[in-house]
Formats: sequence, structure tokens, C-alpha cells
Amino acid sequence: MSRFAWSTVCVLVAVGLILALVENVSYQACLLAGLGACYVALLAAGSLVPRLDFYLHAVRRGPADHPWVALTFDDGPNPATTPLLLELLQRERIPAAFFFVGEAARRYPDLVARAAADGHLIGNHSDRHGYGWAVSSAEQIFAEFAAASRTLAGILGQPPRFVRTPAGVSSPHLADALQRLQLRNVAWDVRGLEGVYRDPERIAAWVARRGRNGSIILLHELYYGVCHFKPGQVLATAQLTIERLRSRGFHFVRLDRLLEQPDHAAVSSDRNTSLETGALLVEKGAGQAMGYCDVATIASRAGRAG
Ligand SMILES: [Zn+2]
Repeated sequence: MSRFAWSTVCVLVAVGLILALVENVSYQACLLAGLGACYVALLAAGSLVPRLDFYLHAVRRGPADHPWVALTFDDGPNPATTPLLLELLQRERIPAAFFFVGEAARRYPDLVARAAADGHLIGNHSDRHGYGWAVSSAEQIFAEFAAASRTLAGILGQPPRFVRTPAGVSSPHLADALQRLQLRNVAWDVRGLEGVYRDPERIAAWVARRGRNGSIILLHELYYGVCHFKPGQVLATAQLTIERLRSRGFHFVRLDRLLEQPDHAAVSSDRNTSLETGALLVEKGAGQAMGYCDVATIASRAGRAG
């Protein structure tokens, strides 16, 4: 039972008690109005704050056993930024995750294909990156995310397994839609706040300070529909974030591998059955190809970064 369902039951019980126990009509009206306002505020907070897990659970970080973090980028593909990021990630030998918007993917399918060919994970970031779906019907919500999955499947040959809703927005019908599409809902525990800080140095410092073992790092290709964050800033932010996190001893692991480590998968009820036993896709040193490493080898090399 979700927190939304529990809250609704509690509110209905409270309404019943007010009606049964409060005889003064004006007191009764005040209490009901106050309760209604609190309930509406709770619904809004549940929709806008992923960490509340109000309507459904969103994964925010992986296991904290090793100093591994996953780098993720939202809002592409975009010809001004995606190629820059792909070149950077290839240079740095880092496997990342791109949460692509369906309608942008239809415009730039080559960028989607290139990102996947480079070894990055491709996720669903809705079809139009709007927010109206959050207050629409179950079928409209399903259609919004189904269209993006269909587009990505048409380009990649298989549908995405992970979804991140725009800004992490949620709604009462979202869980059903994602279940039907077999999409796992992923949020983040550290985000760049590019729209607030603007300066790549400050953004990278902010992210590096908050990074922990298992962190899912959210950076943006562009703030969707907002042009104040330039491609050069996107690239510099990613580069500096990588440097800062590495200087703290973190290694970059692809999102799906971070979440599906064998020790974590053993206690995870929704692990993916395609997990390669004992192998993780991780970054490797300069001059080496990105690839699969033995978990024990990585773990023995890696100290705990906190
Ligand atoms: Zn977005």
C-alpha cells in the first residue's frame, strides 16, 4: 500500500471523526477546510518530491558497499551537447546513462544509437518532457511514457528498462503505467542544480561534496526548453564533476550495474535476470577499453570513499 493510499485512508477516517464528534457546524467546517488544505498540500508535495516515495518508489542510490557512483544525463538527445558528452565519456572511459526525451529521440535517432553503441545505458525521460501528464488520466500517463519507450525501442531494437520522469514528478497513476511498460523508476540522490549555480566549478564542487558510495548523480544536457545553460557549460560541468569525484576516490559504474550488483541483487526483488554474474561495467584506466571487470578484483582495489 503506497503512502498516498495510507494518507487517503487517514484523511477519510479524520473526516469521519470530525463529522461524528464535532457538533458545532462552524468548527466542523473549519476543521474540514484545514484538513482538505493539508491533504492537497500533501498530494502536491508527493508529486513534486521524489524522495517522499508518496505515489511510488523511486530508486535514488545503489548499495554503499563500494566507492562506486553512476553518472546520468537528462533531457537529450541534443546535437549541441550529446556529441560533446559522448566524446568526453569516451575519452574518460566512463559508462553513463542518458535519459532521453521521446520527441527529441525521434529528431536525432543517430545520437541515441551512437550513445548506445558507445556502451551507455539509454532510459526513458517521457515523450514530450511536459508535466501535464501528472494530472491526467491513467491512459494518458501510459501513452506519454509508452510513446518514448516505443521510439527508443525502434532505434535500439529493445525498449528501455529504466525511466526518470521530468524533474522526478509523480502521480497516483504513474505506478500502473510504469509497471505495464516494465520500467523501473530511477531518481537521484545528488543533482547538479545547473539552473541555480550556473558556474561549472560551483556545480562540480556541489556534486562532489554530496557524492557518497552508491550515489546516482544527475546532470543535465540542457534544462529542457531553457536556453540559459550553454553547451560549453554542460561539457565543463561534466568534466569537472568527473575530476572532483575521482579525486575523492570514486569510480564510475553504469547505472544498471550499480543497481544490480550481485550482492545487492541477492536481496532485490526486482533484479533483472540478464545480470551478468560477477561482472560489472565500470570505468577503467586511461588507455584501456571500457568493459567488464571481475567484481572481486574491483572490490579489492577499491577502498571505501565514504
Ligand atoms: Zn528533464
